[in-house]
Amino acid sequence: MKATEVVEKLKTRFPGEPEYIQAVSQVLGTIEDEYNKHPEFEKANLIERLCIPDRVIEFRVSWVDDKGNVQTNMGYRIQHNNAIGPYKGGIRYHKSVNLSILKFLAFEQTFKNSLTTLPMGGAKGGSDFSPRGKSDAEVMRFCQAFMSELYRHIGPDEDVPAGDIGVGGREVGYMFGMYKKLTHQFQGILTGKGQEFGGSLIRPEATGYGNVYFLENMLKTRGDNLKGKTVLVSGAGNVAQYTIEKLLQLGAKPLTCSDSDGYIYDPDGIDEKKLAYIMELKNVERGRIKEYAEEYPNAVYHEGEKPWFEKADIATPCATQNEINEEAAKALVANGVIAVSEGANMPTVPAAIKVFQDAKILYCPGKASNAGGVAVSGLEMTQNSERLKWSREQVDEKLHAIMNDIHENCVKYGTQPDGYINYVKGANVAGFLKVAKAMMAQGIV
Ligand code: GLU
Repeated sequence: MKATEVVEKLKTRFPGEPEYIQAVSQVLGTIEDEYNKHPEFEKANLIERLCIPDRVIEFRVSWVDDKGNVQTNMGYRIQHNNAIGPYKGGIRYHKSVNLSILKFLAFEQTFKNSLTTLPMGGAKGGSDFSPRGKSDAEVMRFCQAFMSELYRHIGPDEDVPAGDIGVGGREVGYMFGMYKKLTHQFQGILTGKGQEFGGSLIRPEATGYGNVYFLENMLKTRGDNLKGKTVLVSGAGNVAQYTIEKLLQLGAKPLTCSDSDGYIYDPDGIDEKKLAYIMELKNVERGRIKEYAEEYPNAVYHEGEKPWFEKADIATPCATQNEINEEAAKALVANGVIAVSEGANMPTVPAAIKVFQDAKILYCPGKASNAGGVAVSGLEMTQNSERLKWSREQVDEKLHAIMNDIHENCVKYGTQPDGYINYVKGANVAGFLKVAKAMMAQGIV
């Protein structure tokens, strides 16, 4: 079946799953040339088999809130593809979670994990439960209820979940505890664990650090670097925080960060001290970003808006999907942005990607630039298998090398005749080829 026919069939089969169709269409639109070079792929109906998840697990999660009310949420695990390794990918807890969003994330994860050079298949899971506003005891009871079903479907050589939006060290810890209680096994069935029970050093930092390592590589292709560059960052969670930390270490000046209520613009730049304040505010007090402007009066809080209309050299969206639309992309280009590196998954809508590529600015999709998180998850799995713990330096060095390799692969498959690097194409083709070859070798299963 031709790629375009696959998309049409998916639209009919899965109506009402726009994010999933968006992610699939975008990938298929860029791998077509490569796919057509391999008639054996078409004979094996490879594209359709690669787009549809191996398995979708859907379950009810019931738990009791602090007032004694019985609450019900939906739980999901999408096991997308395990051709190159065990299923691997995060768990998202957010009120917006539905099948379409998790299917897009699991599909993207398959390509991302392939790019990391490590042996990991693709998966994603989650729930429409939101930890925001819940007590610690409620979060624990929810995590336990979620794991009381999920534990049947995961294992160190089967499927290894991790964190994502709404799931950090606290949630991973509670889920790990419940798995252990149910199975009597101490196993590396989750990554992003605490340092005391099998977690890897640098895992919390990995997505943000990797994003900036990738950005550095992109700038290097134009003989440039991060020194003195102003940067618009969205989000204020794990990815944004460690993106800001690494930007500061490399001499850049982050100007913004945001949450779902709005963004702050700090003309003086977010320095190390202010970053420590954000970390405390978001990770410990679980407060809102508008409080930053109360703490630092030079900063301005913009309620209900996104930071993309401010002037800066670089933008790095680190919040969530579809947060840069066409209008925002046009504003960024008009304001002279030279590079956009995605810390989040699919934060840029297709029309906005076109704006960046037409303007020939450096633009990299999340599946390449944010792959550092899952890459260090892969390294956590290796350490768990070895029953060893590596030093910060060892892990950081490996992360850096992986991000350099991913960049090299994007350049290899994405360089256009005029020299412009189409990172979308490069990432998709490189990610696809490895999975496709593995699937071909393993027959129709
Ligand atoms: N949720 C992260 C991602 O989008 C990390 C997944 C993992 O570590 O398994 O890649």
